[in-house]
Amino acid sequence: MNLNKVFLIFLLLKFYSNQEIKDDAKPGPILLRLNPNNEIQVDFLKSLKRDKHNLKFQVWRDADLPGHHVDIWVAQKSYHDFLLYIQKVGIRHQVLSEDLYKSIGHRNISLIGIETFDSNYQDFEEIVAEMTRLSYFYNDSVKMEKIGMSYDGQLIYAITVFQNSSLIKPKIVINCGVHAREWLAISSCKYVLRKLVFNQNYDADISKLLKNYDVTMIPILNPDGYIYSKRYRMWRKSRSKTTDQNCNGVDINRNFGYRWGSGGSSSDVCAETYCGTHPFSEIESLSLARFLYKNRRSLKAYIDVHTFGQMWITPWGFTHSISKDYKTQENAMKRIQLAIKINNNVTYQIGRSSEIMYQTSGDALDWVYGRLGIVHTYGVELRPTLQIKNGFVYSRFAIVLSGEDLMVGLKELSKVMLEEEKNAF
Ligand SMILES: [Zn+2]
Repeated sequence: MNLNKVFLIFLLLKFYSNQEIKDDAKPGPILLRLNPNNEIQVDFLKSLKRDKHNLKFQVWRDADLPGHHVDIWVAQKSYHDFLLYIQKVGIRHQVLSEDLYKSIGHRNISLIGIETFDSNYQDFEEIVAEMTRLSYFYNDSVKMEKIGMSYDGQLIYAITVFQNSSLIKPKIVINCGVHAREWLAISSCKYVLRKLVFNQNYDADISKLLKNYDVTMIPILNPDGYIYSKRYRMWRKSRSKTTDQNCNGVDINRNFGYRWGSGGSSSDVCAETYCGTHPFSEIESLSLARFLYKNRRSLKAYIDVHTFGQMWITPWGFTHSISKDYKTQENAMKRIQLAIKINNNVTYQIGRSSEIMYQTSGDALDWVYGRLGIVHTYGVELRPTLQIKNGFVYSRFAIVLSGEDLMVGLKELSKVMLEEEKNAF
């Protein structure tokens, strides 16, 4: 290589490193909270979203009714003009962040998809970014914590929605994304999460729910599998190495330590229901179990969200026997079934998992009920029905519908539990 070439490469490297510095210094979007207080202002914001007049902004919490806040990310270059627009109709505003990147980073994650977040499937990083934004900008009612690290080193997060942090309340834990290919379960959970956060003061049922319970969600328990399912859409298990280099992964939902390996799971490392070498061999199941065990005294209900089949199920999975709390569980599920039918005109089957699905051992439900003794332990199989051939790959338009089913189920369960508490006195 001659000297000229070396010099040229030097110049190119310098150019690109300067570019990087320049890009990094670019200010991020501004977060505004708007407070429309009449129909005219609400309609104005709705129409501004439809026709943005070349302004660069993304709506985070949508305009719906007067008195309900609206959150909007505005690009720096549109900020001045955007304020002129909203001031014209007298909408009050406050600045929650002068620069998203300075507040919490996420330079590589676009906010473009934020307006359609509820009706799209997102990557692991995008969902974590949204959880971070919620916990940062709604920090008086949202807390995010790490509960473990996956086999490939991804962090597993739990996010709690609460009201009045000085009170210790019973907890409802919702776990999602155990099985990688069940994208609709993960997306329905993040739909419910955003609804709880954004509508906590406006939806009477959500307000009552959060007045009485903290809701903790683990949106993606199996991040490695979820990331891998982008390439291999039907991937189900974790991604840990096994004795067969052609067959990675364990079925996390056969790896819990209650009646582990006693039927309805496989010891074949290549099987979809491979149960692992021993109970809790997988860091993902162990992380969830540790988190639940740590919170066992406040744990009031546990919901494990999957797709598909349209069912609410309860233990046992390992045996066809009826548990001693089945009457209580069946009563709650009947109420949930009816509420979903009335609200969303769709029927979810209910029953014991071993009866209406199939035998499973080492699943999370049996462990939570059998080991921790949590009566209100349920599994949900979201849309579609089993009549659909490959319901794992399902339209993104089902996210809001399935999310609403889960939301109605959660609200109804909280009502049932409150009534039980009342009747106990
Ligand atoms: Zn599943």
